[in-house]
Amino acid sequence: MANNLGLAVKPVTETPEEEVNRVAAWINTEEYKEKNFARTSLVINPAHACQPLGAELAAHGFEGTLPFVHGSQGCTSYFRSTFNRHFREPAPAVSSSMTEDGAVFGGQNNLHEALENAYTIYKPKMMAVFTSCMPEIIGDDLTAFIKNARNKGCVPQDYPLPYANTPSFNGCHIHGYDAMLLSILQTLTEGKQVEGRCTGKLNLIAGFDANTGNYREYKRFLKEFGIPYTFLADISDTFDSPLDGHYKIYPGGTKLDEAADSINGKATIALGSYSTAKTFTWLKDTYSGKHVQMPVPFGIAKTDAFLMKISELFGKPVPESLKAERGRAVDLMTDAHQYIHGKKFAVYGDPDYLLGYVSFLLEMGAVPYHIMCSKGTKKLEKEIQALLDASMYGKEGKIYINKDLWHLRSLVVTDPVDAIIGDTHGKFAARDANIPLFRFGFPIFDRVNLHRSPLIGYQGVINMLSTICNKFIDITDETCDERHFEMMR
Ligand code: SF4
Repeated sequence: MANNLGLAVKPVTETPEEEVNRVAAWINTEEYKEKNFARTSLVINPAHACQPLGAELAAHGFEGTLPFVHGSQGCTSYFRSTFNRHFREPAPAVSSSMTEDGAVFGGQNNLHEALENAYTIYKPKMMAVFTSCMPEIIGDDLTAFIKNARNKGCVPQDYPLPYANTPSFNGCHIHGYDAMLLSILQTLTEGKQVEGRCTGKLNLIAGFDANTGNYREYKRFLKEFGIPYTFLADISDTFDSPLDGHYKIYPGGTKLDEAADSINGKATIALGSYSTAKTFTWLKDTYSGKHVQMPVPFGIAKTDAFLMKISELFGKPVPESLKAERGRAVDLMTDAHQYIHGKKFAVYGDPDYLLGYVSFLLEMGAVPYHIMCSKGTKKLEKEIQALLDASMYGKEGKIYINKDLWHLRSLVVTDPVDAIIGDTHGKFAARDANIPLFRFGFPIFDRVNLHRSPLIGYQGVINMLSTICNKFIDITDETCDERHFEMMR
């Protein structure tokens, strides 16, 4: 056995080739699938990330804001590198670098020193503090620590320092996003509500969404309507900034004064009821104007509902340009339906995206067959089931809540589908099942530019449909015999 340099490598274990082949074949069987689904105390390759990672994404959505992880450096590196690899952009964030002494004596000293250093060196307009598991396990009191930090002068008394508890042993990235966004809005809007004032603006919250193209698409919709807006937690410039030879530590984000004034808005729409649950519960009792929580607008029906809601809230008709765009998307659906109609899909991801995938596939007459969520609830299961029940293409769909990608692998090798929709982590299952993986979710590490390609709205329908159908056509070309290798497809 030799490595890449041709040097001899001593194998760690000596497993006969027949044994390797026997096990490789066995893990593709129904017998193994049963054992795999019987496991209770082990999770293998879950399709979700840590709570604080979601908190960091929310923090990056605000002007001049430095995400601050109270916890260990290893966790912080994981969040930053995940964003680096997905967006191919820097993701500056700092850490209180807790180590063994912090774990024994508490992390207050680390937090104070780090706050002082970060404030002095990086000059952020706001620091958004959130926790990794270590301070949560030892019970660090963030509220008291932050109060003490102000009293000690680590940061000025009136400096915006929102903070959120984001333990990863309870919840995942969407919950961390929600908790951090809630704290940021609570901090910035405190004392800013003015009786009788209305900004005339729409506040839009996208929920946990790591597709910068989606943010630009939402903004384009609102520009077409001519509606002023405040995008709460806008990461589009943070993670898609131009390369001009100058490094900017804070290239984008929602202006802090605009976010503060959002409490006086005319209306607020929170997209994605699973990643904005707490934030919406709070703001509907606090913010002026009307409040609506809606699904992420994947597919035609959900996009229609989104645009009609904006039209209703602001008393403006849906612009002709968007109606024409809808017509083009429907035209493409008609042109392309034969390449996707009846195809079976395994889909997995965050609850809000998952609901979108299922709606989109059903609209195309495709079959969402294995539907998996690693951090889901009974409510999500019911919502997905309702979508399946409402369509003749949903009859075969089966929902797997709180399962992981090793379960999904068993499903796709024993009960085959034509493709998987998910994120980069699904590539192993897709390869084992010899089917394509469509990378619409987060994170995407192994393809370029996909996070810039919108999935929401009518353009999202066009993008997803073109990607899927062209891949199926490629497969036909690559696998057909000579006689059927046609010019026309
Ligand atoms: S699970 Fe906890 S300890 Fe592990 S990387 Fe996530 S936050 Fe850090």
